[in-house]
Amino acid sequence: MAAQTEESDTAREQIKAEQDVDQVRQRAARDQQRLDSGAATSPKDLENLQREIASLAKRQGDLEDVVLEIMERRESAQERAAELTERVASVESKIEDATARRDAAFESLDGEAATATKEREVIAGTIPADLLKLYDKLRAQQGGVGAAKLYQRTCQGCRQELAITDFNEVRAAAPDTVVRCENCRRILVRTSESGL
Ligand SMILES: [Zn+2]
Repeated sequence: MAAQTEESDTAREQIKAEQDVDQVRQRAARDQQRLDSGAATSPKDLENLQREIASLAKRQGDLEDVVLEIMERRESAQERAAELTERVASVESKIEDATARRDAAFESLDGEAATATKEREVIAGTIPADLLKLYDKLRAQQGGVGAAKLYQRTCQGCRQELAITDFNEVRAAAPDTVVRCENCRRILVRTSESGL
């Protein structure tokens, strides 16, 4: 936007400078006409006219240099604006691309979530109500993980190795007893890799 503003500012500046050149040119033309018409007859008038014509020519040259300098600035402002416009387009297309990928990811995640929700419903239906209630409570307290695998004496929920006395209690517990991690309180799931 700044580059475009600079471009339109220099365009205006150029018009103004060209008008200045025109004014000087017209004035010089009028003087020249007067000189050629022979209307001025006294040597002093003639000399004044000639001096003014010379001075106007010099002034016109200076103003034309100003126009050229403005045109150069305008050209580089145009180039800069064009380059930035191109970059904006490229960034916009990247945003479009990322948005499309994000939307596709959302869609696939929604699908996975729907499947997982259905699977959970089926499994939850087979679990005793009081155990499910405990699990849901722990899950809410423990960042979404209410039960953790006991893997080589370590609770995979909090990554703490069980103290030897706690471990011995888990080892002695009947297979259908609900055992908990003494550190994070999550339900521990015993497997063949628990180290029991
Ligand atoms: Zn734990």
